[in-house]
Amino acid sequence: MLPFARVTIVGLGLIGSSIARAVQATMPTVRLTGYDASAEVRERVRELGFVDDVADTAGTAVLDADLVIMCVPVGAMGAAAAEFADDLPADAIVSDVGSCKASVLAELSEALPKATIIPAHPVAGTENSGPDAGFATLFNGRWCIVTPPPGADPVAVERVTSFWKRLGAAVETMEPKHHDLVLAVTSHLPHLIAYTIVGTASDMEEVTQSEVIKFSAGGFRDFTRIAASDPIMWRDVFLSNKDAVLEMLQRFSEDLTALQRAIRWGNGDALLDLFTRTRAVRRSIIEQGQDDAAPDFGRHH
Ligand code: NAP
Repeated sequence: MLPFARVTIVGLGLIGSSIARAVQATMPTVRLTGYDASAEVRERVRELGFVDDVADTAGTAVLDADLVIMCVPVGAMGAAAAEFADDLPADAIVSDVGSCKASVLAELSEALPKATIIPAHPVAGTENSGPDAGFATLFNGRWCIVTPPPGADPVAVERVTSFWKRLGAAVETMEPKHHDLVLAVTSHLPHLIAYTIVGTASDMEEVTQSEVIKFSAGGFRDFTRIAASDPIMWRDVFLSNKDAVLEMLQRFSEDLTALQRAIRWGNGDALLDLFTRTRAVRRSIIEQGQDDAAPDFGRHH
């Protein structure tokens, strides 16, 4: 049996449109309704046709939903939920895909005090945004972390879990705060570092912009992919997951200082030891199917 029959997606960008396409592919009898704050996006989604209905207001979008998934930037979750609070059916489950969980759970709980809220975070994405960027296989073989609040209804948790499994994801359950700490180190800190490196290189006066671009394959190019991620989404992630990111940043700065000292004092053994350990991490990621082993990230030249 399908976990839900009528799904409403609020926010029809990369993640929202990928969920819709994946539902169409894996659960074609589910009735899909979409809503986005942008009239331009709504118009484009009508052309693309990956939902049955595009509503012009958030309230009408949720009227008969049994699942509402919020796919808007984390800083917009509370306001987006408040828009449909009065129209939400009493038995509907509200979930989301936000990259931070503790702050989103707090915002949704405040906006929808009576609703059953089961947050989730699919750990899958690309650097592109908008309804054209989504695709049905985005979640295949990827993790989706479900972060139920304490005391959540186990049946509701199971339905959300089953929904994500049908979209192709593997599901793990975590406490919201623990999720935020794990993602601070695996996703948020790497994005911050990429934004810094690309920013530093583009500000350097001794090296011209054309040289930065021409010789980018030396490593810089791979950071630019991450640093091209959606600016609004990432601004909101850092503001929402402030404590965990600052804690990880402190640890990172200390490790960077140790590396700086090793280079200054010619401590090749320390460098070799670290680089050997990091190579093993890459090997484990490939062994666990989280990336491709092809050279140069599988790029064709
Ligand atoms: P996106 O492509 O920019 O799409 C977000 C959409 O939400 C936009 O069309 C936006 O419209 C709309 N929106 C903003 N405020 C709204 C509101 N109040 N009501 C209705 N719609 C609203 O972003 P995305 O990459 O799909 O990210 C969506 C969520 O997924 C974020 O919470 C993010 O943290 C999470 N996530 C992202 C990734 C990733 O790799 N991108 C991965 C996992 C999870 P406007 O353009 O007009 O603002």
